[in-house]
Amino acid sequence: MANIEIVVLTGAGISAESGLPTFRDSNGLWKHYRFEDIASPVAWRNHPADVLDFYNMRRRFLADVEPNEAHWAISRLQEVASVQVVTQNVDNLHERAGTKNILHLHGELTKARSSTNPNLITEIGYRDILLGEKAADGSLLRPHIVWFGEEVPFISRAIELVSRAAVFIVIGTSLQVYPAAGLLQYASKSCRIFYVDLKASLNRLPGLTAQYIDGPAATVVPALVSDLINELQQSK
Ligand code: NAD
Repeated sequence: MANIEIVVLTGAGISAESGLPTFRDSNGLWKHYRFEDIASPVAWRNHPADVLDFYNMRRRFLADVEPNEAHWAISRLQEVASVQVVTQNVDNLHERAGTKNILHLHGELTKARSSTNPNLITEIGYRDILLGEKAADGSLLRPHIVWFGEEVPFISRAIELVSRAAVFIVIGTSLQVYPAAGLLQYASKSCRIFYVDLKASLNRLPGLTAQYIDGPAATVVPALVSDLINELQQSK
C-alpha cells in the first residue's frame, strides 16, 4: 500500500499557525522589509549586516515555534503511502513533525554555506551567523537560502517527483514565486490535485482540475489526510 506516490508542495501558509509570518499576507514579512533590501545577492554584497540580522532573527523565531497539526498530518500520511514533501519553506517544521523525504527548494535556516561554493554547507542549528564569519574555504559564511535571482538547485528533481505523483497536495502557497509555482504544470493527467489555502478558490490553478479546500491548514489538512488514509486503507 505504501506504493502510491503522494507529493505535497508547501509554502509559508502551512507554518503560519505555528507563528511564522508569511511574506504576502497582511502581517507578512515583506511589509516590514523590502525583499530586494534583504533577500538578494546584491543585498549581501552591499549590506551583509542587515541580511544577517534578518535571517538571524528568523532563525531565532524558528527555535521558539512548533510544528502544527498540518505538519503532523502530512507525517501521518507516510503510514499509508510514499510521501515526498517539496517545500518552499526554509523552516524545519516538516522535519520536526517526522516527515522523512523533504526537498527544500529555497534552502534551510538551520544551515549556512560558503559565499563562493554553494555545495559547502554546514549545520548551524539556531545560532546566529556573525558578520565576518568564514566558511571552511575562507569565503564569508552566508545563510543557506536561495535568494531572489539565484538558481533553484533542486527544481529538476522536484519536477521529476511531481510528474510521477498519483496525488499532489498543494498547501499554503500563493503560487507567485517561480519556478516553484510552475511545478503544477508537471502533474500528470491522472494525478489528483488538492489545493489547500485560506484563498484556494480565489487563487485558482489555471488550466488544471483540482479540488479546492479553503481554510486554515492546521484545521483542514488533518481532515483531508484522514479522508485519504481511510480511502487508501479501504482500497488495500
Ligand atoms: P506567500 O507568503 O506568498 O503566500 C502564503 C500563502 O499562504 C497565501 O496564499 C495565503 O493565503 C496562505 N495562508 C496564510 N495563512 C494560511 C493558513 N493558516 N492556512 C492555509 N493557508 C494560509 O508564501 P509562499 O507562496 O510560500 O511564497 C514563497 C516564499 O515565501 C518562499 O520563497 C518561502 O521561502 C518564503 N517564506 C517561507 C517561510 C517559512 O519558511 N516558514 C515564511 C515566509 C516566507
